[in-house]
Amino acid sequence: MNIVLIGIQGSGKGTLVSSLEKHLDLNVISTGQLLRDEVATGSALGKHIKEIQMNGGLVELDIVMDVLNKKLKSNNKKITVFDGFPRNMEQANALDKLAKPDIVIYLNLTKEVAVDRILSRLTCSKCGQIYNTKRINTLVCPNCGGKLEQRFDDTIESINKRFEGFYKDTYPLIDKYKKDNVLFEVDASGTPDQVAETCLRIINEHNN
Ligand code: AMP
Repeated sequence: MNIVLIGIQGSGKGTLVSSLEKHLDLNVISTGQLLRDEVATGSALGKHIKEIQMNGGLVELDIVMDVLNKKLKSNNKKITVFDGFPRNMEQANALDKLAKPDIVIYLNLTKEVAVDRILSRLTCSKCGQIYNTKRINTLVCPNCGGKLEQRFDDTIESINKRFEGFYKDTYPLIDKYKKDNVLFEVDASGTPDQVAETCLRIINEHNN
């Protein structure tokens, strides 16, 4: 089963993935994280990717497909979750050929709440777990002891550029997936537990 998560930056896709992983055996393909992993190697490709990410732009399709395909090939799980892919119609068409989505969850959240969440977001440099500075008072990950830090691309300039890209290129996918009869819209303004519970119900109803 292939699940796609769509939502504005800050809508809680990464947090939702962590919650779902506690209940389901998942192969998670987070293109943003896979690209950041390449940045962390310090390679020439990583430097190129970092520059694009800092500006909030989209990394070239061939590079994204390369990291995505590598992760997909090493998969032996029944459920795959795509977080951050597809981001436009070209990528959606590529995904249809590779792994047609069975469920697309649209995490609906206002831009104002999303900005607030992004600016108070801390990510563990070791395990990738996401926290909110309003709910945690340490820079040590309670999950693994790793260092909690702000994402290098969570600057106001990059955030605004990513929002622009979302409404222009990603938002139209909602119509496509509605027509494909696979779209589920979820109110993402609730607590992480509330959002996860709603999404788990949707997934379990379709996972028989
Ligand atoms: P995210 O972790 O989803 O917020 O993505 C962080 C950054 O990684 C984005 O701003 C893009 O620069 C890049 N990125 C992530 N996913 C994609 C994708 N599907 N296509 C192109 N670039 C991507």
